[in-house]
Formats: sequence, C-alpha cells, structure tokens
Amino acid sequence: MDFNRLEILDLLEGYQRKEFSPSEVAQSLLTSIEKKDGEIRSFLQVRPDVTLDAARAIEKRSSEIQKLPLYGVPIAIKDNILVTGWQATAASKILKNYVAPFTAMCVERLESAGALILGKTNLDEFAMGSSTENSGVAPTRNPWKTDRVPGGSSGGSAAAVAAGFAPASLGTDTGGSIRQPASLCGLVGVKPTYGRVSRFGLIAFASSLDQAGPLTRSVWDAARVLECMAGYGGKDATVSRSVVPKYTENLNESAFGTVRNLRVGICTSWLEGVDPEVRTAFEAAVEKLKELGMRPVEVELPNVKYALSTYYLVATSEASSNLARFDGVHYGYRTPNPKDLDDLYCRSRGEGFGPEVKLRIMLGTYALSAGYYDAYYGKANQVRRLIQQDFEAAFEKCDVIASPTSPTTAFKIGEKVSDPLTMYLSDIFTLPANLAGIPGISVPVGVDSAKLPIGMQLMGRHFDESTLFQVAYCYERRRGALANAPWRGSKSGAGA
Ligand code: GLN
Repeated sequence: MDFNRLEILDLLEGYQRKEFSPSEVAQSLLTSIEKKDGEIRSFLQVRPDVTLDAARAIEKRSSEIQKLPLYGVPIAIKDNILVTGWQATAASKILKNYVAPFTAMCVERLESAGALILGKTNLDEFAMGSSTENSGVAPTRNPWKTDRVPGGSSGGSAAAVAAGFAPASLGTDTGGSIRQPASLCGLVGVKPTYGRVSRFGLIAFASSLDQAGPLTRSVWDAARVLECMAGYGGKDATVSRSVVPKYTENLNESAFGTVRNLRVGICTSWLEGVDPEVRTAFEAAVEKLKELGMRPVEVELPNVKYALSTYYLVATSEASSNLARFDGVHYGYRTPNPKDLDDLYCRSRGEGFGPEVKLRIMLGTYALSAGYYDAYYGKANQVRRLIQQDFEAAFEKCDVIASPTSPTTAFKIGEKVSDPLTMYLSDIFTLPANLAGIPGISVPVGVDSAKLPIGMQLMGRHFDESTLFQVAYCYERRRGALANAPWRGSKSGAGA
C-alpha cells in the first residue's frame, strides 16, 4: 500500500474499513522520511519511537473512531510550535537543543482529535523569510523540482506534504508563510482569521499578525484539520470564543448550490507585474469560478500598495520586542565565558541569531525608538487601518476576493538570497490579509511551463472560513487532480 499519496479522508476511510492501521501508516511514512528526506530536508526532528507509541495508543481506542475526527492521522509540525518533549528551535541556533515543556493549544486539540505527531519541520529562522533559505540549519528543497525553493517560511511543512511524507502539516502565517509555500508546492494552505486559532505555544514573531493553520493536499483535509485545531482554550487573550463551525459538513454536493451566485471580487490593478504564466493560470481559474455560477466583480483596494512597507514596520517592530527574551539567560544558547553581563547579552544574541533575524530586530528597534515611533510604527498602524477599511468596503460588493497567491512560481535556490527586497515581494498578495486579520486560502490551479505549481488565493470576511472552503472545494472538484504531483510518484524529489 502506498501511504505517501493518501489524503486524510482516504486514511480515515481505510482505518474505518480496517484495511490498515495507524502503526502501519506511521511506520511507512517514517521509513520514507528516513530514505528520502536527506535530499529534501523537510524535517528537523523525527522521533520514530514516540510516534509509533502514539500510534499504538490510538489503536487501543479504535472503538471510538467515530468520535476522533483525526484518528491515526500523522501530522508534521513546524518547529516554531511547541509540543511537549519535542525540540522547538524555530530553526535558530539560539534555540538549539531547546525542548518544549508544554504543548501548543492548537496541537493539543489535534492530539485530542486522534492525530499523531510525525515530526518537527524546517522553517526560515523565527519564520522570517519566503524560501526557507534563512533556516539556521539548512535550506529545504522543493519536491516538485529540487533545485527550487519550497517557499517559506513554512517550507519544511510544505515540502513534507508535497513529498508524500505526511498527509498534513501545520505552519504559521504572519505575512504569507502558509499560503505562499502551499502555492509553491501545489498544496492547499489556510491562514485563518486572526483569533480563530490560539497562539498559545507558538514562538511569537509578530503577535498581531501570527496565525497557525494547515497545509494539506485537498480542501476537505484542510477544513478537517482547521475545525479540529481552532477555537478557544484559555491561555490566549486574543483567541475568539465564538463556536468553530464544522467546516467539513458543508463540503459535499450542497456546496455547489451555496457557491452559485456568490460574487468574487477581483482587483485588476493588483495583477500588474505578475509573472505572465501565473496571470494566465489565475485568469483561467476565475473562468472556472464563473462556470460554477460565481459572478466576478471589480473591487478596489487603493491602500494595498502600502501593504509591504506597512508590514515590514509592524512585523519588525513586534519581532524586536518578542525576540528580546532570547538573551542567553532565559532560553537556549549562551556564549561561553562572557566578560560581564553586557558581553553575555551581546555575544549570545550576536552568535545565536542569523543575519535576517538581526536585520529585522534592528529595523524594528529603530522604528520603535523614541523620536521615530510616531513617524514609523504609529504611521504604519494608521495605514494598516486604511487597508482594513479597503477590505471592509470591498466585502460590501463581493463575498470572496481572488488573487494569485504568489507573483511567481518556485524560484531557484540562491536566486533571491542576496536581495532581500525582491524576496519580500514574494508576499505581495498574502501580506494584506494578515494586516486586515481576514482569512485566506491558497488552492493549486495548475502548473507553469516548467511544471511548477501555481496557486490562487481566496480571501474572505472575518471568521468566514466556511465560504472560502466551499468555494475552494467546488473549484478543486471542477479542476480535477493535479498532474505530476510528486506525492503521487514512486520517488520524491524527482518532480515525477
Ligand atoms: N515572508 C514574510 C516575512 O518574511 C512572511 C513570513 C511569515 O508569514 N512568517 O516576514
């Protein structure tokens, strides 16, 4: 049995029919990780004994399978999310050897739904980046073509699912880090509404933007993972107490009726500068939405052109504050033989953080410093409000907004490392949703001439993930299976 290609839904059906067991699945995936992840480098840590013990423990509860919506489903977790007993390094030298003393709320919820932790995945250090090349460990490769980046910062989580190592993974998205790697790896990726999922147990990057969410191979699977991980659990003052809908309940024939006559907003001016092949694929996807009965309407988002500059002030400011705790005393790495306390702080941070993280801490500290605060951080927050208002106005005219997820397909490893500004442009379509706090989903729409996947982003109103899932689900059914997906090949890393 080839477990590498199975979706969550296939696994659940197979378990129910007793065709295979969680231990068999976990063992088989762990074996393929061992054999093939040397090339891809999606995982930073696997603990086969721990995963297999969990698989056997869940098998003892097989009579409760109906009550466990993720019974025996192995999930890979980005290494900036805490799981008791597992490392949580954020791919930074400053947290090397750090082991989590507690479990993030969203993971606790997945585990109580029956999920198994398969391993911890690679990322750009502290989730700062768009290619996973900023990892303090090693870059991850894109399973569609191994000379390409998988996107980032959740590149390890995306590559693990695209390579067939895991049916699902968790990422975090501060400015696009779930949706952009999902797009570059041909996956579905969801950034939930800010406050839908608890941030308790996430290593904070920018607290007003961060959200955890799933990466999967199908819309149904993403809906299943999100409905299990979302919701209030205490311990995070910014998580919503509103009831989490059972998103999967509406993902069937009835969705086609709901989607018919919905209005899809398109901001044409936003498409300038997009790679022509991405634009063509996006326009073809919009045609398919029309075939589903949806009505395209032009929307204006006049302030999104400021999203990049706004984001890089808000995110770096918050990061400079959040990362102050890594000082050589509280956590992780400490420089050997410091001369005095200042030397301890300076050298521990100087040696522990990588260059992109230092760049951002400096930018953020500058933007927050007395005399500059109003001009930079204060101003950025005002513009952020304008961007939120743009979306509010747009959603008066439409029900979802569609755009490409990323302006290009997966670029070559090394191509953009020396030019941070070009790298930052990778997130031009994803940043606005974080600034506005609205949900976004990326769904694959096809491949370019180099056979690299292209994604479409759908954004919705606050807490209206249901509509996003329904539209994405109907679109996906209309689109059919993606050609050449690496998880379907017998060998990962070959681009099939
Ligand atoms: N690529 C963006 C950045 O570098 C977004 C990262 C993220 O969403 N974590 O900040």
